[in-house]
Amino acid sequence: MRNQQSNALVFSRPSRHAGPDHRITVDPTTLRPLSCTCQAGRRGLLCWAVIEVTATALVPIALRHWQQACGETDIRAAAAVVGQTRKWAAAALELQSLRSCGYVVTERGRADPPASNGAIRSISDGLQGAAS
Ligand SMILES: [Zn+2]
Repeated sequence: MRNQQSNALVFSRPSRHAGPDHRITVDPTTLRPLSCTCQAGRRGLLCWAVIEVTATALVPIALRHWQQACGETDIRAAAAVVGQTRKWAAAALELQSLRSCGYVVTERGRADPPASNGAIRSISDGLQGAAS
């Protein structure tokens, strides 16, 4: 039931430039952000909306899945997702603080702080996978 792509989670964030909303698709099982409908997202780039959703929205969902998990395999998998989303959230928060300093992340990897390289790459890999 939880593996169907049709159950993908979609988050919506209003555009900051009077454009169409960002609609961010997230894998329902791994909670990996897959894509965003905005211009940057369509080109496989991380937009602020994906970063915000990653920073704030995914960990609570992962925790809820973990609480609802049943059976050892399920519980272990859910716990792993909690750990993963926490890493992504920490990396996304770092990106947000870079951006608020005026540091613009234009392309995958260009502005990755060394400590969180892996986590950022996971997010942008998800985006790129969906875009190709
Ligand atoms: Zn977007």
